[in-house]
Amino acid sequence: MKNENCIFCKIAAGEIPSATLYEDDDFRVILDASPASKGHALIIPKEHYRNLYDLDDALASKALVLAKKMTLRLKDVLRCDGYNIVQNNEEAAGQTVFHFHMHMIPRHQDDKIGIGWKMGELKEKDKEEILNKLK
Ligand code: AMP
Ligand code: ZN
Repeated sequence: MKNENCIFCKIAAGEIPSATLYEDDDFRVILDASPASKGHALIIPKEHYRNLYDLDDALASKALVLAKKMTLRLKDVLRCDGYNIVQNNEEAAGQTVFHFHMHMIPRHQDDKIGIGWKMGELKEKDKEEILNKLK
């Protein structure tokens, strides 16, 4: 299903031009318009899913396989030292476009790109609570 108010639906369908690196029946891979680093790209399904919670299972598998294929190719083209695959779900987690997508962000040794967090400490109480609630 498409969402007529969704910019990524339009980009994925080719209705809005994009710097397309790859396309198949299920996905379009484009360069991000505001890249964190040179070559920052997005994997966008052609069907509309708000985020990972809604994503079709078969497509979820294909998305990760495609991320593998793209990063293997791009790391040679871009000569980068590493890759972050980032995927944000809901506003609290930084999602700004509410059509599922995966970021592929090329990294270079000692670049100062801020993808990270301050490491905390796993508290015994939290661990017990989570493990018990999942039973
Ligand atoms: P997120 O914050 O995870 O939802 O990521 C949305 C990403 O989409 C951001 O990195 C934006 O720079 C990118 N973006 C938004 N609009 C466009 C567009 N028209 N073309 C390419 N990238 C876009
Ligand atoms: Zn959409």
